[in-house]
Amino acid sequence: MLTANEIRDSFVKFFESKGHQIVPSAPMVIKDDPTLMFTNAGMNQFKDIILGNHPAKYKRVTDSQKCLRVSGKHNDLEEVGHDTYHHTMFEMLGNWSFGDYFKKEVIGWAWEYLVGVLKINPADLYATVFEGSPEEGLERDNEAAGYWEQFLPKDHIINGNKHDNFWEMGDTGPCGPCSEIHIDLRPDEEKAKVPGRELVNQDNPLVIEIWNLVFMQYNRKADGSLEALPAKVIDTGMGFERLCMVLQGKKSNYDTDVFQPIIKAIGNLAGMTYGTDPKVDVAMRVVADHIRTIAFSITDGQLPSNAKAGYVIRRILRRAVRYAYTFLGQKQAFMFKLVPVLIENMGHAYPELKAQQSLIEKVIKEEEEAFLRTLETGIRLLDKVMTDTKAAGKTEISGVDAFTLYDTFGFPLDLTELILRENGMTVNEEEFNTEMQKQKQRARNAAAVETGDWVVLEEGETHFVGYDYTEYETRILRYRQIK
Ligand code: ATP
Ligand code: MG
Ligand code: MG
Ligand code: MG
Repeated sequence: MLTANEIRDSFVKFFESKGHQIVPSAPMVIKDDPTLMFTNAGMNQFKDIILGNHPAKYKRVTDSQKCLRVSGKHNDLEEVGHDTYHHTMFEMLGNWSFGDYFKKEVIGWAWEYLVGVLKINPADLYATVFEGSPEEGLERDNEAAGYWEQFLPKDHIINGNKHDNFWEMGDTGPCGPCSEIHIDLRPDEEKAKVPGRELVNQDNPLVIEIWNLVFMQYNRKADGSLEALPAKVIDTGMGFERLCMVLQGKKSNYDTDVFQPIIKAIGNLAGMTYGTDPKVDVAMRVVADHIRTIAFSITDGQLPSNAKAGYVIRRILRRAVRYAYTFLGQKQAFMFKLVPVLIENMGHAYPELKAQQSLIEKVIKEEEEAFLRTLETGIRLLDKVMTDTKAAGKTEISGVDAFTLYDTFGFPLDLTELILRENGMTVNEEEFNTEMQKQKQRARNAAAVETGDWVVLEEGETHFVGYDYTEYETRILRYRQIK
């Protein structure tokens, strides 16, 4: 069985053998681009080449890129831990052609790598192709379909719409159709009941997208019309952790050697075993995922803080602390103890982690402790709410109080309910949901979010990253005055 480190190497070596230059991952944290806080795809670092602002040093490149999808167009945060194949931070394996090869070669090589080199069963694979968009005068991508037909039976080639199969950089700029490769990992008896093609792009955890091949062949002009790109671009991205799951015969990314050492370490610290209680499992997955994100982000120079990118990282750390507090019984800082395991596991591919080990541990420990103090304050408040409710002869606390705990003290409803249950009490969930809806509406009104893989901002414009700490603090103060 190939290890994760061997799989990463095999990908870049394969493309090196096809004339590609292996390049390093760009930082996950972006410091000099006002339109994007974090790298969310392999192609980000090649933006200026694709736009024609910089000449390409190499026409063919390949790498494994650290990506983070927690804001803007790609935000997978709420899925993470609950499903088994979306992470906050993940690695995207990719290969690029800047004005060199195009669809024929990239489809042929993708097939050669997956089936020829890695020996994936071709019967499990599906490819999607752009179905066309008559109103824009775009035809079905018959060219790509034709190349796929050399490898796949017709019922494994699926038409996809503009949303899934037409990639655009933003409102203007390079764009084009794409082909995604999906894999069906269900047991044979399930496959016999429902054909895999019906489950592609349906959120089935065992029928998942592994690789996206983008064929940039147009340039969208400011008036919305399309012209042919002079130098066509190939841009591909494959989920590294998903590929490891496939090749290691697992049903979840967390069962691979990318995550198992961390999951085991969490289990040891908590005195719990992964795979025995679904809620504990979610919490372990959240912690295992988020510790990577936080450690890599600190390594790249982004510490948790009050504003913008730093606040996004702080929120991710707090999400992990809350799950650990609620479901893993961790009332004291403990995530920092996972850093050595992470480094042992990933330090080979990312030596920068090792170099900053003590800083990473110190920052995480301090953040954990600070947030646990906030949680304690919230718990004292909840105690008071419970006492008052009981004094009024009721056992159900109001949803408004539960929402304040959520909004101001970072208590998810789960945590509030857990504490209430221990005290024989409940919460008015309907009221809570109403408050949540109101809050979402307020956020929608206030937010101008990132809309593309990047957006061009007018001068002086800023972008929304969630409410920042100052506002958070203000609301705590306001709430304390009310109480
Ligand atoms: P999905 O539909 O599964 O959310 P996507 O279409 O959003 O994936 P792309 O933008 O096409 O993903 O990115 C290329 C590849 O990166 C995907 O084919 C997938 O294998 C992987 N990938 C995307 N998002 C994640 C994530 N959050 N965690 C792990 N891998 C991911
Ligand atoms: Mg996605
Ligand atoms: Mg997709
Ligand atoms: Mg995709």
